[in-house]
Amino acid sequence: MIRHSIPLHQRLSRALVHDEFEVNYQPLVELATGRIAGAEALIRWRHNDGSLIFPDAFIPQSEQTGFIIKLDQWVLNTACVQFAQWGKEYDPNLFVAVNLSASQFSHPLLLNVVRDALKNSMLPASALELEVTESATMRDPNETAGIIKQLGDMGIALSLDDFGTGFSSLSYLHRFAFHTLKIDRSFIGDFSNKKRDSTIVSAIVALAHALELEVVAEGIETEEQLTFLRSAKCKLGQGWLFGKAMSAQEFEKALKVDGGYAHITEKQRISA
Ligand code: C2E
Ligand code: MG
Ligand code: MG
Repeated sequence: MIRHSIPLHQRLSRALVHDEFEVNYQPLVELATGRIAGAEALIRWRHNDGSLIFPDAFIPQSEQTGFIIKLDQWVLNTACVQFAQWGKEYDPNLFVAVNLSASQFSHPLLLNVVRDALKNSMLPASALELEVTESATMRDPNETAGIIKQLGDMGIALSLDDFGTGFSSLSYLHRFAFHTLKIDRSFIGDFSNKKRDSTIVSAIVALAHALELEVVAEGIETEEQLTFLRSAKCKLGQGWLFGKAMSAQEFEKALKVDGGYAHITEKQRISA
């Protein structure tokens, strides 16, 4: 492990000023057709030695120091500007999902920050989804209900990330007006052998549909997983089968060159 004389929090602030962060986009795919419906915005740190640093290496500390507020805001603004352009150029129905940290979610200026991001980029609210984890919503349930309601009034959908790993509280699902459930990738296992995984996933999809929520499966890596998720009537998904998180240029190429269809075999497309 490389030792640095300057503490991480100082290097992070400097990286933001020096434009070393970049937003990568992972395709969110309509499972029945392979069409790219949108993308999840995922932050990367392009270190000045050229290496790419993944969020797990700096998000936890950014949370602790409060730097995450600036970082999340930067990602939100960048993703909104980008999708306003792609929406006009390629598909007006494209949407972008942006992760919000727990501190950003409960920040008093959250609604202003989101409103400004939409206004400055001219991205329609319907093209933005915000992802939060269950733990972020559990800090203060009354406050959470208020924030979700106000975001909903602005036309912004809220997605519950990593579903199944936390409390998976059914009363919360009922109480908060989420738009989407994202099934954590730890459940997207080997469906052919592990009966338990497939039962859990089918149950989550059925529950979500009964509550009129969209479902997204994370971490789809194999055709077998795709086939199972389609049969379970899961509408949207993301994973390495379709593409890893990629630079803006690469994502645009996928929209342009592949006609907005993720890498999905012809056989899979036809059998949909
Ligand atoms: P997440 O929001 O649950 O994002 C999904 C993670 O799963 C991403 O990791 C993605 O690259 C990875 N993934 C997607 N498909 C596959 C697959 O098929 N196989 C495998 N093994 N992994 C897959 P990533 O980009 O390293 O991000 C990790 C976490 O860091 C994210 O989890 C999110 O919690 C956080 N994060 C990323 N960007 C941001 C950001 O801008 N703001 C905040 N607050 N958190 C962020
Ligand atoms: Mg996410
Ligand atoms: Mg997740």
